[in-house]
Amino acid sequence: AVERLQPFGATIFAEMTALALERGAVNLGQGFPDWDGPAAMLEVARGQISTGNNQYPPVRGAAELRQAICEDRARNFDVEYDPGTEALVTTGATEAIAATILGLVEPGSEVILIEPYYDSYAAAVALAGSTRVTVPLVPDGTGFALDVDALRSAVSEKTAMIVVNSPHNPTGTIFGLAELSAIAELAVERDLLVLADEVYERLTFGLVHIPIATLPGMASRTVTVSSAGKTFNVTGWKVGWALASQTLLDGVLAAKQFLTFSGGAPFQPAVAHALRHEQAWVTDLVADLQRKRDLLTHALEGAGLSPFRTEGTYFVCARVDQDALSYCRALPASRGVAAIPVTVFTDHPEPWREIVRFAFCKTDEVLAEGIRRLT
Ligand code: PMP
Ligand code: GLN
Repeated sequence: AVERLQPFGATIFAEMTALALERGAVNLGQGFPDWDGPAAMLEVARGQISTGNNQYPPVRGAAELRQAICEDRARNFDVEYDPGTEALVTTGATEAIAATILGLVEPGSEVILIEPYYDSYAAAVALAGSTRVTVPLVPDGTGFALDVDALRSAVSEKTAMIVVNSPHNPTGTIFGLAELSAIAELAVERDLLVLADEVYERLTFGLVHIPIATLPGMASRTVTVSSAGKTFNVTGWKVGWALASQTLLDGVLAAKQFLTFSGGAPFQPAVAHALRHEQAWVTDLVADLQRKRDLLTHALEGAGLSPFRTEGTYFVCARVDQDALSYCRALPASRGVAAIPVTVFTDHPEPWREIVRFAFCKTDEVLAEGIRRLT
């Protein structure tokens, strides 16, 4: 690969899932649910395929899906986007992230990532010829908080964008109003863009998710990214989206059109159906995930590990009292379980050296077997 991709190697998700398959391990590594989404949504996709919706959708995505996305945002978060000009369907949130960075960040600029960060951000920044600057989350009682002073000092004349992921992968932290306001004030003061990765926007356990785009001064400078994968258990469909003011979204579209142009024709109407009609299913999913979070957290405690509080997402992090990377490389063989070392999401691994991410988005049977093997 080219020089700017050299530091990345193979993604940890591919490595750990391959290891899990090879060893017949319970995969608590890669974050994907192992049961299906709403039956009626799957039926819509089947129907679309049978009736011939199998060619390129429009580059911005099917109109009915953009309409459904904007209605869903308005209903859940009281924020309005124009489906014609301010919503773009993408090939998963991953493409939305890449297109946002490629389309809006000039080479030579700096992008601030909050560490630990989801791995595709760093690669997208490198592909764009820009540089990442990281700011750490810091332990805060049983969970993690943003170091706002460190964020402030990380901004330079070259800073173009801050990437804000809440609910946060891998820690499960949800940023509250105080943290989001501090980021927003800084963005306004220093005229920065914000990429808000909100793929876990619905997967919150009691705390309210606040889209940073809704804070004062932020609508015109935020690209919000989300995905049907997490909300409806269809990570493999890769139907995601970006929402932003027309000016920003035109930049995202400028890059997106040459990444994939468009994709997922039969899945787009199915996701539109789910956004419109499957809210009760999502409520049940969230209750189920919260119960699974509690099961896994208690089991990890019982096994002598030290789990952190998790407020959303699919994940719980725990201190394993040994090097996390070696622990995770050995775990499929030693215990028949796969997990992800949090160090792979960092540039400054030291504070995270012994922290491992376990996924709990698994059927009760699989989760119980994983727990049995770990404990
Ligand atoms: N952002 C975060 C924080 C994620 O955890 C993931 C996937 N797990 C993505 C983006 C990518 O989403 P998608 O699968 O829709 O491309
Ligand atoms: N986002 C998922 C995770 O964090 C996996 C995504 C992937 O496999 N690239 O586990």
